Amino acid sequence: MARLDVQQKLEILADAAKYDASCASSGSTKRTSKGGKGIGSTTGAGICHAYTPDGRCISLLKILLTNSCVFDCHYCINRKSSNVRRARFTASEVVDLTLAFYKRNYIEGLFLSSGIIQSSNYTMEQLVEVARQLREVHDFRGYIHLKTIPDADPDLVHQAGLYADRVSINVELPTTSGLARLAPEKSAERIDGAMAKMKSDIIDTKDARKKYRHAPRFAPGGQSTQMIVGADSANDSDIIVRARGLYHDHALKRVYYSAFSPIPDASSVLPLKRPPLMREHRLYQSDWLMRYYGFEAGEIVSATDPVTGMLPLDIDPKLAWALGHRDVFPVDINRAPKAMLLRIPGLGVRAVSGIIASRKWRSLRLADVARLTVSIAKIRPFIVTPDWRPTLLTDRADLRGLVEPKAEQFELFAA
Ligand code: SF4
Repeated sequence: MARLDVQQKLEILADAAKYDASCASSGSTKRTSKGGKGIGSTTGAGICHAYTPDGRCISLLKILLTNSCVFDCHYCINRKSSNVRRARFTASEVVDLTLAFYKRNYIEGLFLSSGIIQSSNYTMEQLVEVARQLREVHDFRGYIHLKTIPDADPDLVHQAGLYADRVSINVELPTTSGLARLAPEKSAERIDGAMAKMKSDIIDTKDARKKYRHAPRFAPGGQSTQMIVGADSANDSDIIVRARGLYHDHALKRVYYSAFSPIPDASSVLPLKRPPLMREHRLYQSDWLMRYYGFEAGEIVSATDPVTGMLPLDIDPKLAWALGHRDVFPVDINRAPKAMLLRIPGLGVRAVSGIIASRKWRSLRLADVARLTVSIAKIRPFIVTPDWRPTLLTDRADLRGLVEPKAEQFELFAA
């Protein structure tokens, strides 16, 4: 490996990290250096300073410790057989960079991942050493997200949780068969095992902190993961069911979906084209339906195409579900339980809370609902109010055309 200076390493290793989307900083505990102690704060959450090639804002100081790897996952630009420039930071270089960027106000935290060098344990030791130096030597109070390695010694992974705000283990592909085909050195069983252990460590530490105020914190922002969408044959139903399992079995804080990006010198087993970005967006919407709207995975799967198992791209999954379950509509805004209000297309969680709070005092009319929502036109076919009843509207064959968003030509130079 040619000798590179820190700037050159940073160019290579920040670029190599951009394919990982699982780095939002939500969910951490508040930590601040007000009062002159320590460096940094986690209170400026929502840390985003870098952008993926397609324009998504996804990062902290987001780097790899190294892009060398002894594994050969087909979808990864850093795989052993990839012909990319390699670089490697020392733990101290990452610490110095993080502190220097932090003090210049460029970043509010660190997202650190790595290719596997020498062994899983050695790599995990290096990642933990960065976090240890930041926390113990420099009293760094900013946000740290560490990627952990499922094959590493559980004690090392546990140490990562003691220093980091959030930890993550990527499941990479939604199905076991996809993982076996595209990442043969990884094991779905080991990944699930590592997530289960992380979950129990998080629960144990929370319990300990209820009893002992000074018990150490452990990954207060929880654990997250990333699934690559469109690199294998898994359809949206597979992905939704897998995500539901991850939330349910491992209490994940977030599942991130990352549309597969074709990489230079790609393996011939990969698709040549990336999936539409809208597919990723629809999966995020279905994820929100499960996390905030009380939808079961099976309900969202029922909104997919029965042949392909894919969500429609032209309408959102909640509207697709409603169009497929017209028998439960229209819903009486003044009487329906919260779970049913949350299933009305176009009604968000905040609007539903507003409706429930307001209807305690008086009966809501259509204009009242309109004031609480962005578009009453989308909602009208699905609701009943004292002054509005959509006569046979939900039976109309052209209902989808009436409520789907209209295609819009954006102007290049619009203000
Ligand atoms: S282990 Fe990680 S870095 Fe290495 S090839 Fe697989 S995905 Fe890439």
